[in-house]
Amino acid sequence: MRNRVLGTNMLATVATVLLIVGTAIGRQVPNADSTNPAKRFRWPNGRRAAVSLSFDDARVSQIDTGLALLKRQLVKVTFFVQAEQVRKRLDGWKKAVADGHEIGNHSNTHPCTANYSFSRLNALEDYTLEMMATQLDGANAEIQDLLGVKPRTFAYPCGQKFVGRGLDVRSYVPLVAERFLVGRGYLDESANDPHVCDLAQAMGTSFDDMEFEQMRNQVEQAANEGRWVIFVGHEIGKRGYQVTDTAALEALCEYLKDPAHGIWLGTVAEIAEYIRQQRTSNF
Ligand SMILES: [Zn+2]
Repeated sequence: MRNRVLGTNMLATVATVLLIVGTAIGRQVPNADSTNPAKRFRWPNGRRAAVSLSFDDARVSQIDTGLALLKRQLVKVTFFVQAEQVRKRLDGWKKAVADGHEIGNHSNTHPCTANYSFSRLNALEDYTLEMMATQLDGANAEIQDLLGVKPRTFAYPCGQKFVGRGLDVRSYVPLVAERFLVGRGYLDESANDPHVCDLAQAMGTSFDDMEFEQMRNQVEQAANEGRWVIFVGHEIGKRGYQVTDTAALEALCEYLKDPAHGIWLGTVAEIAEYIRQQRTSNF
């Protein structure tokens, strides 16, 4: 009897040691757990994938047309805004905050490459990291002043992540990583793999000028791989260039909310926070 108890204790000790050693080895190899089904990344409540809806530039149609639609659908989204644009519909943006939408930072003056004529005099090629840091901090301060919220997420204007030219080019991703939970790109060709994605360079999938079926295909493809789609739109109205179609958006909201499809619909910050926590506890 005594021997049996001793044997059980020894077995338990050996199992514990193996578990500790196994965990240590797992920690030395990045993402080793991603191949282990027992510790694979899991979305909450058995969901297959995550989807965020985001809109850039604080275009007035997001307030004039979008807010009512989103309220009707009981859907929360992420708006990446510039303060100057927010002032055009300040009461509307305050309502967006009150409705529970996330407000993200989209810089102060929206610098992009000089190849876009609208950015010729505000070109990333002429920027330094110091100037970009001022943009990021200035925008956060203005947004906080206008709307009383501090953005936790950022969207790269035009999806571009550099300053300077040629040998002097520098990435400003580290500035974003220092300040924000997420830096979201634009016109990227893939959804985010939660095992490995860099939240400071999260991929953004455009859903402007799409039919509902095209949006659904993007979601289904991501769901088959357990990924996170961050949709990016601009205007909300009748389908067209840089316009997310109202009917398609409404159909997408209904599709995403249907429990039968197993999708977690959340703001960019909500889903990124979950990914961060999962990695901290599992990897
Ligand atoms: Zn933009």
